[in-house]
Amino acid sequence: MLRSALADLPAYVPGRTVAGAIKLASNEVPYPPLPSVLARIADAAAAINRYPDNFSTELTGVLAARCAVDADQVRVGCGSVSLCTQLVQAVADADDEVMFAWRSFEAYPIIAAVSGASAIQVPLTDGHVHDLDAMVERITGKTRLVFVCNPNNPTGTAVTREQLVRFLRAVPEDVTVALDEAYREFVRDADVPDGLTLLEEFPNVVVLRTFSKAYGLAGLRVGYAVAGDPAVARAMAQTQVPFAVTTLAQQAALASLEPAAETELLDRVERIAAERTRVHGRLLELGYAVPPTQANFVWLPLGGATTDFAAGCEDRRVIVRAFAGTGVRVTVGTPEENDRFLDAAAVLAR
Ligand code: PMP
Repeated sequence: MLRSALADLPAYVPGRTVAGAIKLASNEVPYPPLPSVLARIADAAAAINRYPDNFSTELTGVLAARCAVDADQVRVGCGSVSLCTQLVQAVADADDEVMFAWRSFEAYPIIAAVSGASAIQVPLTDGHVHDLDAMVERITGKTRLVFVCNPNNPTGTAVTREQLVRFLRAVPEDVTVALDEAYREFVRDADVPDGLTLLEEFPNVVVLRTFSKAYGLAGLRVGYAVAGDPAVARAMAQTQVPFAVTTLAQQAALASLEPAAETELLDRVERIAAERTRVHGRLLELGYAVPPTQANFVWLPLGGATTDFAAGCEDRRVIVRAFAGTGVRVTVGTPEENDRFLDAAAVLAR
């Protein structure tokens, strides 16, 4: 009765929530929602007998102005993972190719497989960075879409403007490049480009952003795409599930962009970025080969020791995200949470 494609589908493994344990497994921010955002959600809840605005008109307008693009280049979605799906369904027919680095965001292979497209996975370099030259070489007449996750989940590594521009110049203009910038707000390296600055020169680029991480709205599901070409944004509307972005999510995103709220949220991001530097430095001291990270997480490439390390952390009530046989991704949390993780990492390093 079921499609054969589903039989081999890898399962999406969400970070686990374990009562009483510290969760550093899903790249969320550790802080509670702002009171102003909660108040807006409560107000919006009074109207949930009505369907939401299917076009997220107000939020789209605000985002377009901030990104200095036309509103018809912006598409708000039910989290950026939905926008990834909409994009694949907008550009790739069955048997077309969708390319991404591996390891990267674990939803990419699932989305490609469900859509019927072929997934072309190009290994990261030994330094855990996108191998953009190798990706160019793998482009064929069937390639419709290339995901570049920058910074990359789960390794935290980022490609520079120079590397990305060279790559984009080599990609045929009828191949769409999705720059997945879910962690953009955590980037502190000035060589790592803001994808929005590339849209004018490269209209085949689509930048994907989310309110789930820096803006702390993971539970509400809202993200946005900014396309160099409005035709792509329109196509993503065609492949959207109707009413996918709730009024609560739209209003919470708008409230998060109010100047006072945004200042506070980005101040939190600053704290996380500082903690990231501390956690990364300490892990290096302990002897872990952690690559440089521009995201709100660190990557421990532990190979065969991955599962034992994650179990050791869990024994100490810290939940991390293990990718069996490859490595462990650990979200940067509050200083106290990070200390708990570092204590575990110190014991497990012995
Ligand atoms: N892209 C990347 C690289 C991610 O890591 C995530 C979240 N894990 C997403 C997209 C999806 O985020 P959301 O759907 O919550 O916006």
